Amino acid sequence: MTGLAYEDKKQRLTEFLRAHRGGGIRLGKTTSNLFRDRQDASAPRLDVRDFNNVLRVDAAGGYVEVEGMTPYVELVAECLRHNVMPAVVPQLKSITIGGATVGCGIESSSFRYGLVHETVQEMEILLGSGDTALCAPDNEHRDLFYGFPNSYGTLGYALKLKAKVVPVKKYVKLTHIRHSDPTAYFADLSRQCDRRDIDFVDGVVFGRDEMIITLGQFSDNAPYTSDYSYENIYYKSLRERSEDYLTTEDYIWRWDTDWFWCSKNLFAQNPLIRRLYGKSRLNSITYTKIMRWNSRWKVAHHLNKLFGLHSESVIQDVEIPVECAPEFLAFYHDVIRFMPVWICPTRAYDKNAKFDLYRMDPEKLYVNFGFWDVIRGRSKLPPGYYNRQVEEKVTALGGMKSLYSDSYFTRDQFWRIYNKPAYDRLKKKYDPDGALRDIYRKCVLKG
Ligand SMILES: Cc1cc2nc3c(=O)[nH]c(=O)nc-3n(C[C@H](O)[C@H](O)[C@H](O)COP(=O)(O)OP(=O)(O)OC[C@H]3O[C@@H](n4cnc5c(N)ncnc54)[C@H](O)[C@@H]3O)c2cc1C
Repeated sequence: MTGLAYEDKKQRLTEFLRAHRGGGIRLGKTTSNLFRDRQDASAPRLDVRDFNNVLRVDAAGGYVEVEGMTPYVELVAECLRHNVMPAVVPQLKSITIGGATVGCGIESSSFRYGLVHETVQEMEILLGSGDTALCAPDNEHRDLFYGFPNSYGTLGYALKLKAKVVPVKKYVKLTHIRHSDPTAYFADLSRQCDRRDIDFVDGVVFGRDEMIITLGQFSDNAPYTSDYSYENIYYKSLRERSEDYLTTEDYIWRWDTDWFWCSKNLFAQNPLIRRLYGKSRLNSITYTKIMRWNSRWKVAHHLNKLFGLHSESVIQDVEIPVECAPEFLAFYHDVIRFMPVWICPTRAYDKNAKFDLYRMDPEKLYVNFGFWDVIRGRSKLPPGYYNRQVEEKVTALGGMKSLYSDSYFTRDQFWRIYNKPAYDRLKKKYDPDGALRDIYRKCVLKG
């Protein structure tokens, strides 16, 4: 891939945007991990499918230059060839680096490096006008650099990024630590995050008295390696083992094979059906395709109707200050209830960096709670009955909620959390004609 090819492709997008000044542009790409239905399927599509190249891996310099719509599966493969990995790799293979930067991606290295956007050093952003802005922490577009995370394509699209990479070893040794008391669990999680000899920390809550912390440490050697890419299921292994070894690549994708545990809703954990899927189709790319098909044809909706059930999707990732994590978990057990829940600690990589649209206290350790399922019942509840309660609790505890799935905030609530003055300033400067949508309209009203 040459620089010229990138410039040529960029020119094509510029011309497209200048020819479609009416607004309401949508990204045209083949994969998505967005879990809210969009209403304007007919909007003109900006075809960014070929912005999927890794341009340069500089292992010695500790960075990679990559086009914005490159899925992590390709980015990781190229980085591993140079014995490095992106400092934070979201768990799902089809997530792109641009999507994770704008959508606050997280993983088990986040306790050290923060959210995905905190590992980004520079971005070239395509604005709604068709112009581009090279954004860095210390140049004239620093406001857009710091305002871009959590803007979900409403301020511009990242076409090229420079992001931090870190050295890897061949294997990752896993240690699973069991807890039965939430207060002790989160206290231990905090302690583990202060250790310098640990490379990865995450966890899973399986029940009121069953919680696991998983520590990962790079290792040059392994007495054996497990394989969770086909017959064995990773999340089940956490309840059965206290130690494990994976190749680094298998560690990075340990959650992808079964979409954490959500593959059970697509029957992929039934041994017979698992064989029918086949190893090559057990991944998040297959599952998102099925979910989109379901969403399009409303299959689950019709089945629920047939059985007299009402349902609400509760697909959320929320960050809670660690001192409030036991309270959030108690609320979760009482109200939302479905298990398991993914637990991932994160804290600021650079305490001086302030990301205007996703404000977290740089002095605090936060815990990400990830929970993704559907709650069904016989009674008809008001729309967003469960999601609204999650939003209220997260806000009351000083947490933050990702916007990749359904949100029910009123305009006032939304703007108190997501910083209206900063967003308005950025919108006025970088998208004055409103070629891209407003974030409240896009993420809450789905318009
Ligand atoms: C079930 C589930 C579990 C998840 N778990 C995790 C997790 O564990 N860790 C994690 O990090 N994330 C997780 N996510 C969230 C995911 O990282 C975000 O949804 C992310 O934005 C998806 O990126 P994508 O590349 O698939 O983008 P898409 O889904 O295609 O788009 C998401 C949004 O980002 C915008 N966008 C996409 N590319 C760009 C770009 N280059 N520049 C500007 N805007 C862009 C789009 O306009 C859109 O608004 C999860 C999502 C789901 C549905």
